[in-house]
Amino acid sequence: MEPKFIVDLNVGRLAKWLRAMGYDTLFPEEAGDNQLVRLALLENRVLLTRDQGIVQRRAARLGQLKVVWLVSTDLAGQLQQVVRDLQLNLDGGFSRCVRCNVTLDLVAKEDVAHRLPPYVYQTQTQFMECGQCQRLYWRGTHWVHMMSKLDRACLRIA
Ligand SMILES: [Zn+2]
Repeated sequence: MEPKFIVDLNVGRLAKWLRAMGYDTLFPEEAGDNQLVRLALLENRVLLTRDQGIVQRRAARLGQLKVVWLVSTDLAGQLQQVVRDLQLNLDGGFSRCVRCNVTLDLVAKEDVAHRLPPYVYQTQTQFMECGQCQRLYWRGTHWVHMMSKLDRACLRIA
């Protein structure tokens, strides 16, 4: 089964990238340590953090709590570690809203034509929509850029 994640505030930038890869990732910005741990245990999520205190908790030492302590302080290094340690892949990319963490729905081009910039309408064929924030996704330059960055992160550690 694909891993699900919950990210601590100190590594919060990871949330967007893990979601872009298609992984179910919670980022409860207001949550304290206890709440993060409780959610991780309750929903069987891997907790990603740079907080040593969480790693040393009893639940983590007993193996009940799955937690990855991230070594690097920068995003690229953190991404590489997560991809390597948990053997993530890009197979599920382009399937989840990076803001809301919900699965995207395929929508017909004609139904969203009025919301598309002319260039996008002319050049793209497949569109996905977030049912929560209504944001539209297509494989445009921004997406290609994100995926190639992730691809490099995966390749560097292969
Ligand atoms: Zn959304």
